[in-house]
Amino acid sequence: MGQDVMETFLEEKHRVLQRTLRAFCDREITPVAGNVDKEARFPWEVQEKMARLGHFGIQVPKDLGGAGMDTVSYITVIEEISRACAGLGLCVTVHNSVAVYPIMAFGTDAQKKKWVPPLARGEKIGAFCLTEPNAGSDASALESTAIRDGDDYIVNANKVFVTNGAIADICLMFVRTDPAAGRRGISVIVVERGTKGFTVGDVEDLSGMRANPVSSIRLYDCRVPAANLLGREGEGLSIGLTALDTGRIGIAAQAAGIAMAALEEAVKYAKQRHQFGVPIAKHQAIQMMLADMATQVDAARLLIYRAAVQKDRGDAFTQASAMAKLYASEIASQVTDMAVQIHGGYGFSKSYPVERFYRDARVTRIYEGTSEVHRMVIARGVLGG
Ligand SMILES: Cc1cc2nc3c(=O)[nH]c(=O)nc-3n(C[C@H](O)[C@H](O)[C@H](O)COP(=O)(O)OP(=O)(O)OC[C@H]3O[C@@H](n4cnc5c(N)ncnc54)[C@H](O)[C@@H]3O)c2cc1C
Repeated sequence: MGQDVMETFLEEKHRVLQRTLRAFCDREITPVAGNVDKEARFPWEVQEKMARLGHFGIQVPKDLGGAGMDTVSYITVIEEISRACAGLGLCVTVHNSVAVYPIMAFGTDAQKKKWVPPLARGEKIGAFCLTEPNAGSDASALESTAIRDGDDYIVNANKVFVTNGAIADICLMFVRTDPAAGRRGISVIVVERGTKGFTVGDVEDLSGMRANPVSSIRLYDCRVPAANLLGREGEGLSIGLTALDTGRIGIAAQAAGIAMAALEEAVKYAKQRHQFGVPIAKHQAIQMMLADMATQVDAARLLIYRAAVQKDRGDAFTQASAMAKLYASEIASQVTDMAVQIHGGYGFSKSYPVERFYRDARVTRIYEGTSEVHRMVIARGVLGG
């Protein structure tokens, strides 16, 4: 493998983080990744060790129990975890970017003090509950409701495809508080597992990301204190979209991590597999694929890095994060497909990890906004709309 493209850009603290993390992931996560995929099991034994390293509060200040790191560190963590186990990478990126971050950005001091420390220490897991059976790409069509009753809300919700759904303790629920107000009638209410009426549905039997217990969550007449409202009534959609800007940097890093792993495996295999009397790496057709894969991986990582730096500088980063997510997710599918091709028939067998990478990569083009939705966002920016 050539020089890591990020060598040119990362500060020493990021390089140290990357080295330490890679050693941790190679030792603790890679050995269990195949099995947790097969068994569709969340690896709690690894989660605890990751929590001790601060992976559940990456950008949370230390006084609230977090690691106090920047966005460049965040993408480094997500890339490295996803390079080892994408389902676990999904847990960490969703928890940090669309569960913890919105509480940090929009919560009151009391809300931050109550929810952030246990989330940041990894003692509690967060979830982001926007999607519903009739509201996917068009989130504004959501039908879940929260009706004010004295000092409480009575919440009825039907949420599907919730990442971390079956293990989540603290859920950001997007609900309609004013049914007559359209997009401006949506709010975010934090609902804790254990509240009466909170039920978790079956875990989805997914094609990839099988280590993550993605499930539906239903709330039946859940009585939730009005103090659990995040931001103001009617701000829900704007809070959600702000969170997704950050979330998309994480999904892009996840896709890049999967593609990095696929490229490494393809290089290794191409050097050891012999056909026609030479390692297949000597065949130009294989070299062309490896060249394309390496170039795509580097280009994706540079786009992700740009988005992270823009966020760290406090600049607008919606366009950069949409481009990073679109490109990284699209090339992750292409790179993992080429990795399977380089493995020939063995790439289609579960005995080799590229088969898992190929399945895991696919969904990165769908969640936190499909590629089509991202093209719409980017085009809007290009057209100045
Ligand atoms: C593993 C997994 C985990 C997930 N985790 C979460 C989570 O934690 N929280 C959460 O809230 N959601 C989550 N989701 C849901 C995910 O965000 C949605 O699946 C996604 O937003 C797409 O919505 P949809 O599936 O309803 O597809 P639809 O919106 O029905 O889209 C179907 C197709 O139509 C296209 N399309 C739709 N509208 C347009 C348009 N205007 N122009 C062009 N094309 C269009 C789409 O791009 C897509 O190709 C998860 C999904 C999966 C699979």
